Amino acid sequence: MASTPEFQHTVGKTASFSGTSLHTGEKVSLKLHPAPVDHGIKFKRKDLQDEPTIDARIDNLKTVERATTIGEGSVRVHTVEHVLAALSGTGVDNAIVEMDANEPPIGDGSAQPYVDLIRRAGVIAQEEPRKFFDVREPVHVESKTGALLILLPDEKFRISCTQAGPNNRFAQYLSTEVTPTVFEREIAPARTFVFYEDVEPLMEKNLIKGGSLENAIVVRGEAVLSKEPLRFPDEFVRHKILDIIGDLALIGRRIRGHVVAVKPGHAVNADLARVVVREQMRRSALSVTRALPPSDGGFDTDEVMQILPHRFPFLMVDRIISFESETKCIGIKTVTINEPFFQGHFPGHPVMPGVMQVEAMAQVASILLFKLAKTTSRIGYFMSADGVKFRKPVFPGDTIFIHAELTKSRGERLAKAKCHCVVNDAVVSEGELMFTFLDK
Ligand SMILES: [Zn+2]
Repeated sequence: MASTPEFQHTVGKTASFSGTSLHTGEKVSLKLHPAPVDHGIKFKRKDLQDEPTIDARIDNLKTVERATTIGEGSVRVHTVEHVLAALSGTGVDNAIVEMDANEPPIGDGSAQPYVDLIRRAGVIAQEEPRKFFDVREPVHVESKTGALLILLPDEKFRISCTQAGPNNRFAQYLSTEVTPTVFEREIAPARTFVFYEDVEPLMEKNLIKGGSLENAIVVRGEAVLSKEPLRFPDEFVRHKILDIIGDLALIGRRIRGHVVAVKPGHAVNADLARVVVREQMRRSALSVTRALPPSDGGFDTDEVMQILPHRFPFLMVDRIISFESETKCIGIKTVTINEPFFQGHFPGHPVMPGVMQVEAMAQVASILLFKLAKTTSRIGYFMSADGVKFRKPVFPGDTIFIHAELTKSRGERLAKAKCHCVVNDAVVSEGELMFTFLDK
């Protein structure tokens, strides 16, 4: 359904549905409203004074006991994971989930009622690009209970999950790419399941008033008790994948990567979401270069543009941050998702073309040559590039530090420069460039 998956999406109009909440057993109605770009998913408590809203973000996570609860101040919203899974799974980035209680209606224990609701509201594309988290290096989280989540680089969002009950009963495994089509058909209908020995104490404490065979599958010994037969032979592992999608929605970005999960639960899912958000913050902090102080002798964008004839989209230097000597300097280029080359290189998996990094090196070297020659009446033409190596991919959000050093200048017509590009303290590309000069 999402025809342009690289853009953010919201719902087309308001739609509502009502039912019973799981923990209190009370009637609750839920309304889904459209929201603007970069809004994310917010829950609104219509039943409270001032109708507070809570961002569905990992820093608002309060508890992960059997369900995922978020909150701000004293306001709470319980059991958000199935709504969030439905929104994320169907490709909705921005929406307001308004409720008149502290918990959404549990429905049949799956994400199906929410998917039906989203279908009624419609899903529409918005103008801004979607935000992704690209997994660059494997990360993993594990718990003392044996839960393990590993996140691996992948061009797609995939989940491979192993689920096993007490004494490894009902061990199930499923691996799938998660697209809206796969989510709706294979994941959303999978219902919550409980092992009788796990819920017995809760029933005694009267903590699941709304719980019944209407909204959960109960496993007692080898017997599977439910209102309707199993929807899939491996319905349990599918529901575990549903919960992972819902919990990871708290990241606020879509993951491009492969989640490998062993006996996952809300706690370990939330741990992984936290690790991802921390890494994203680290990357964002590194790319905030506009706050760099103008260093002595550097060139700002205007000065760079007075020297270089290049213009958007071919100007590959934002500014020169420093000249170490007459023959050595460092330029920077902040790479944003708006670079035109990302549209085709590659759709759904933006990587900066290596040749554009060579172009950036050439432009920084040209600025050095200008500084030496003190004239813009001649243009340096790129003659050759030797020993060019691309060592690491450059992604949207990265800041490239372009180092250039003139190594040879033969007469007035030829020059050689040794260059390398650095992102996050690692050399991503290098090469030796040769120029010749011609009058304009
Ligand atoms: Zn669940």
